Amino acid sequence: AQERYASIRDTPAVTPCGRRIALTMNAGLMADLPSLEGSGAEGVGLFRTELQFLIRNKMPTRTELAALYSRVLDSAGGRRVVFRTLDIGSDKVLSYMKPTDEPNPALGWRAIRVGLDKPGVMRMQLQALIRAAKGRPLTVMFPFVAQYDEYRAALAEVDKAMDRERILGHPLPESLEVGAMLETPSLAFAPTQFFRDVDFLSIGGNDLKQFFFAADRENERVRRRYDTLNVSFLTFLENIVERCRETGTPLSFCGEDAGRPVEAICLAAIGLDALSMRPASIGPVKSLLIRTNLAELREVIHKAREEGHQSVRPAVMEWLKTQG
Ligand code: PEP
Ligand code: MG
Repeated sequence: AQERYASIRDTPAVTPCGRRIALTMNAGLMADLPSLEGSGAEGVGLFRTELQFLIRNKMPTRTELAALYSRVLDSAGGRRVVFRTLDIGSDKVLSYMKPTDEPNPALGWRAIRVGLDKPGVMRMQLQALIRAAKGRPLTVMFPFVAQYDEYRAALAEVDKAMDRERILGHPLPESLEVGAMLETPSLAFAPTQFFRDVDFLSIGGNDLKQFFFAADRENERVRRRYDTLNVSFLTFLENIVERCRETGTPLSFCGEDAGRPVEAICLAAIGLDALSMRPASIGPVKSLLIRTNLAELREVIHKAREEGHQSVRPAVMEWLKTQG
């Protein structure tokens, strides 16, 4: 499939109305990295570090992790890699950690909640990342942040880890960016200071959508019940874009919907400038983006909303047909 899009692989995604959309890929295993070249991804917008933990039967050591992250940065060859700290719990259970019996694991003790309550593993991971990055830029992102305080506490851990490395005389990353995933609705309403404090935000649409509609992403009965192009959800996303604009906070979207061409152009139309997706989706998404006038599409979306439609999808599909 990637051959089909080979001719546009190295062209940036610029739309007929002049918008430039950054397309990056999601990854998590070493095996994903060769796709950076083949897909034309501008970097790794989401590196799911838990996958490395999930494929093992015991906890990796700091040295192993540092070597691994260093190889990830090597293969990225200077392109930005957003390392998301361990996102375990809920559907991602480590065989070598004490199981927790929770009635609602998706709403339970997961991701940054584990990282802050039992900071041992998170500290080890942060050290491994800092050591791997030595002399190179490092980007760290915290998953499942639900309120400002959690981000502040996580940031304090990063600062502590940096100080520790400095005191030990280890080389530090050339630069450091720290951000958060926006995947709980509460975070969209965080104090403005939060938006100023993060270096960037990335919308985790998979989780954000499940919590927005209260519909379990793992439950076949309900997971497709609510359309991503539902006007309520799009309006919510537009509000997030607006808040980030006010504070100048770089914003991306890294859920599965970013890799679906129709969803992707709609996300770009409501103001997202960066989308991260599985590598095979970059070609199809770029191919549609470079033919789409996003300013016009935005009008189509807003008109459908004003007309009281539940989802803007039918209007968008009709409009696409007229675009040839
Ligand atoms: C998300 O929630 O959209 C996301 C990108 O993270 P994950 O799918 O790993 O939960
Ligand atoms: Mg998520």
